Amino acid sequence: SVFIGSSIGGLAEVYASLQKSLGATENLFDILDEPAEPLTPVTRVAPEHTLHGYISFRHVSFRYPGREDTPVLKNLSFQAQANQTVALIGPSGAGKSTIVSLLLRIYDPTGGHILFDQKDSSSFPLSALRSQIATVPQDVFLFGGTIAENIAYGKQDATEAEIIAAAQQANAWEFIQQMPLGLQTLVGERGIQLSGGQRQRIAIARAVLKAPRILILDEATSALDAESEKLVQDALNKLMEGRTAIVIAHRLATIRQADKIIVIDKGAIVEEGTHHELISNEEGLYKTLCEMQFIQ
Ligand code: ADP
Ligand code: MG
Repeated sequence: SVFIGSSIGGLAEVYASLQKSLGATENLFDILDEPAEPLTPVTRVAPEHTLHGYISFRHVSFRYPGREDTPVLKNLSFQAQANQTVALIGPSGAGKSTIVSLLLRIYDPTGGHILFDQKDSSSFPLSALRSQIATVPQDVFLFGGTIAENIAYGKQDATEAEIIAAAQQANAWEFIQQMPLGLQTLVGERGIQLSGGQRQRIAIARAVLKAPRILILDEATSALDAESEKLVQDALNKLMEGRTAIVIAHRLATIRQADKIIVIDKGAIVEEGTHHELISNEEGLYKTLCEMQFIQ
């Protein structure tokens, strides 16, 4: 690392180059003040860089363009280790989906840094990031086309065998097979109507094919009936194995097993820990939210 590897004499040089790469407006001391977690100087990352899956938010602040008077995220810092499941919970409007937009670089932070594998998110070509991050949102968008085409959206050159295997892992194969045209069934505006749970399992099959290093679930099971929810949750659990997952959930029962739960309120982190750690905080927001949902 740049800090550990440098002699004292070299530090000024490192400082100068870091200051340059961070831009003159950033306060370098905010970063140097943090406990040792070396920050690699910003360099452009090769498009073929394979993500390990480590994610770090460092003092991230955000305001939407045109809404500069309203801070949406306020000095957020948290980490997800590679292959961990980190849950984000909190009231509606807290800023959870905004965090997803920043991860996907739909927007960049207006303050602070987001790191992937210790490298600033702005140093990644968009395609390099988005090809390795899959999202399963609450409202899945299917385009006009066949089910096969919608699944293969995750991997354009997928074979039929790969598409079927992905549909099976996503618990979607059973309902697809029951349709007269199977994988060739048209969906979207001019095709058949799929239920919310079915659309979601198509999105999961898409993500299975994409085999992303990072998975983002934004309230993926919140609009489903109990039967669908179980099928979707099973498929999601399989999909999360061996990758970093950021999971936003309404229903707290679905995120009890997360490695870390981060509670967000009004754009700031108010609690962080495992389910057992958080549930023992009598005054905590997590405990209150759990009680509202009758979770012991
Ligand atoms: P959550 O997902 O936790 O419900 P959001 O991240 O969607 O919260 O929203 C956080 C805040 O940002 C809310 O006050 C919301 O109104 C505002 N917001 C969300 N999206 C936009 C946008 N595109 N433009 C302006 N404000 C937005
Ligand atoms: Mg949201």
